[in-house]
Amino acid sequence: MNCVPDRIEAYIDDELDAGERLALERHLATCAECSSTHTRLLEQKIAIKAAAPYYAAPPELRESIRTALQRAAVAESRPAAQAAFWRPLAIAASLLLVVSIGWNVRSLATARPPSNFVESLLDDHIRSLLAGHLVDVPSSDQHTVKPWFAGKLEFSPDVKNLDAEGFPLVGGRIEYIAGTRVAALVYRHRLHVINVFTWPAESSQAGPAQVSQHGYHVLHWTSGAMTYWAVSDVAMADLELLRKLYLDSSAQ
Ligand SMILES: [Zn+2]
Repeated sequence: MNCVPDRIEAYIDDELDAGERLALERHLATCAECSSTHTRLLEQKIAIKAAAPYYAAPPELRESIRTALQRAAVAESRPAAQAAFWRPLAIAASLLLVVSIGWNVRSLATARPPSNFVESLLDDHIRSLLAGHLVDVPSSDQHTVKPWFAGKLEFSPDVKNLDAEGFPLVGGRIEYIAGTRVAALVYRHRLHVINVFTWPAESSQAGPAQVSQHGYHVLHWTSGAMTYWAVSDVAMADLELLRKLYLDSSAQ
């Protein structure tokens, strides 16, 4: 295949048929110029998605902040030190904090993933790609990655190397998801990155569940005592395959 820079964007958008995709992937592996075009386009796309506004404050939150500000403004109208100016801001900030903690706790407790919990998984996935902070322990060896988590988490994640099945392990890192320390296991599939977030399962958590948003896919399942959330821009079918490989290798 010769250079086809105008097809790279279609490739990233998953619009190519299987034959053309394979040919392009082979070409990307050998052509530095197209490969750097691919990286640039991919980064651009991720940056645009990351910059897009995801959250809209619910009306109750906006209302409670407004009330707090009004109350603070009344207090401020009395003779007071200059510091009073900051009081409404501080109240608004602490309200925001309380409300967001409330959301997160509720998110983890419900079986069905609320959209803002999924958003935080997506945010984390995108941030890991953007910030150059994909892995803290870069290794394709599960016997290096698993012990690395020891002492850093209160559980030991089930790390699998699925290289032979097309999902090579890249490494792992620790993340905070909804206020919980979790393990992020990083896999590659073709030229895509998959983050598998895992932590001890709660009995209330059902699975599997899948969500697609902003061109990303999230697949959730539980196995043994652990819960898993796989996030990537690969096709949902690829995440399904990853889940199957995980379950199959656990059954052995
Ligand atoms: Zn080329």
